[in-house]
Amino acid sequence: MKSGICPKCGSKDVYAGSTLPPRGKAGPHEVNTVPITAGVLPSVVALDNYVCVNCGYVESYISDPAKLQKIADHWPRVEELLKEEKEQAKVTPSQLNDF
Ligand SMILES: [Zn+2]
Repeated sequence: MKSGICPKCGSKDVYAGSTLPPRGKAGPHEVNTVPITAGVLPSVVALDNYVCVNCGYVESYISDPAKLQKIADHWPRVEELLKEEKEQAKVTPSQLNDF
């Protein structure tokens, strides 16, 4: 998408919202944000949106490297979540047999 070509429909009518000002006062023109941490001082990061005006597909990116590092520090890695799911799936069938 950042290359200017829509991965869904192949159109080159892709527009970048990255030139919008970062998070300001809440309002209709506020850019999308992703919450990173909860708590008393929740941390959020603004998203750069890429929009295909041909099919409507939207992709969002975080461009702040410090925020990306913060996410890596606070969020679980999907690979680990999937591993946990698999281990739970192994347990479930035998539990069902007990009933
Ligand atoms: Zn498209």
